[in-house]
Amino acid sequence: MERTSESDLVSLLAATRGVYKRIFGGVDPKIAVSAPGRVNLIGEHTDYNQGFVLPMALQMGTVVVGSPREDRIISIVTTAEETEEPKRVEFPVPMEGGALEPGEPRWANYVKGVIQHYEAGPLPGFSAVIASNVPLGGGLSSSASLEVATYTFLQQLRPDDGDPVTKALVCQKAEHTFAMMPCGIMDQFISVMGKEGHALLIDCRSLETHLVPLSDPNVVVLITNSNVRHILTGSEYPTRRRQCEEAAKVLGKASLREANMADLEASKALLSEEVYRRAKHVIGEIERTARAAEALQSKDYKIFGQLMVESHNSLRDDYEVSCPELDELVSAALEIPGVYGSRMTGGGFGGCTVTLLESGAAEKVRRHIEEKYSRTATFYLTQPSDGAKVHRLP
Ligand code: ADP
Ligand code: MG
Repeated sequence: MERTSESDLVSLLAATRGVYKRIFGGVDPKIAVSAPGRVNLIGEHTDYNQGFVLPMALQMGTVVVGSPREDRIISIVTTAEETEEPKRVEFPVPMEGGALEPGEPRWANYVKGVIQHYEAGPLPGFSAVIASNVPLGGGLSSSASLEVATYTFLQQLRPDDGDPVTKALVCQKAEHTFAMMPCGIMDQFISVMGKEGHALLIDCRSLETHLVPLSDPNVVVLITNSNVRHILTGSEYPTRRRQCEEAAKVLGKASLREANMADLEASKALLSEEVYRRAKHVIGEIERTARAAEALQSKDYKIFGQLMVESHNSLRDDYEVSCPELDELVSAALEIPGVYGSRMTGGGFGGCTVTLLESGAAEKVRRHIEEKYSRTATFYLTQPSDGAKVHRLP
């Protein structure tokens, strides 16, 4: 089982520096930054409903190394094998009033979007190499970690006022307008503001954040990657968003955050059966997340685990974003004593599960899941880590 650690990122940084030197004329890069991926402990599909989420930053992340250059050209290379060709993109720094446009290769859109929306310009040209040890497309938000790492890199070229909320929002805007993914704010917030030994309760309505300690040596977080990604029509996420908006409108609320179960029951007859269940998940999940944060604060892992299981069942039955593989992984984990709770995490239809368990049970849980799971899973035993960082190059 892979036990992730800070030193993985340091090794990745050293290797990426080597790649930079090889590609860009044998000189060392002057700047090195990183930003983490994330796992959401609870609060799924609540962020775009103005609700609560409770993610933690991972020890896995994206690194960007590079240097400014004189010729007003931006040249970026990714080492990610999973991405489409070409691995290198080059374009002039957008002039004042000029604009970058999303295009091919798609991976570069995350970077271009951040450059386009970075407010502290004008930027100089630069050369950079990107590398990541977050699995791409695995539901651990390699995309936000790429955006936030890019932003952190730009801050080294042309400092902004350093406001973390602006930073996260600009990265979210990049994902909306260049990657065409209408995501909530969770991934970018946690990648910017994560803290070692803590989960982060984010209020997606007020944008307030609250750190909740999670550093008990007897408790670990196990991420299990199902290694499946069901490509449905691609419209599931926007459809869910629309259904939530519809429900809020019928309930006469600005968002589902403003509604409670009694409001929902009172309007049940006005909603289709499906939209009713979507709203039921969201309203219940927002409430569960607030309770889970309290449970974690008081180290009540048992309650926390029960809420995780309720969250999974609700995502499976009411929100309908789970899949047989994720259900299998959760069921298998829950069969082992020492497991507090387990659930699918991220958007759904594949990707990962997250399990909270006693440290001593981790190996047994892994073996049991391997035995029960119909495919091959990948495991990461991880701890809450810091948000984006600048690394001093020796
Ligand atoms: P997730 O965020 O769950 O990993 P997404 O589909 O949102 O999945 O984002 C994955 C996409 O982000 C990749 O297909 C690729 O386009 C881009 N990406 C992420 N990391 C990198 C990287 N290191 N280099 C290039 N592109 C990357
Ligand atoms: Mg993503």
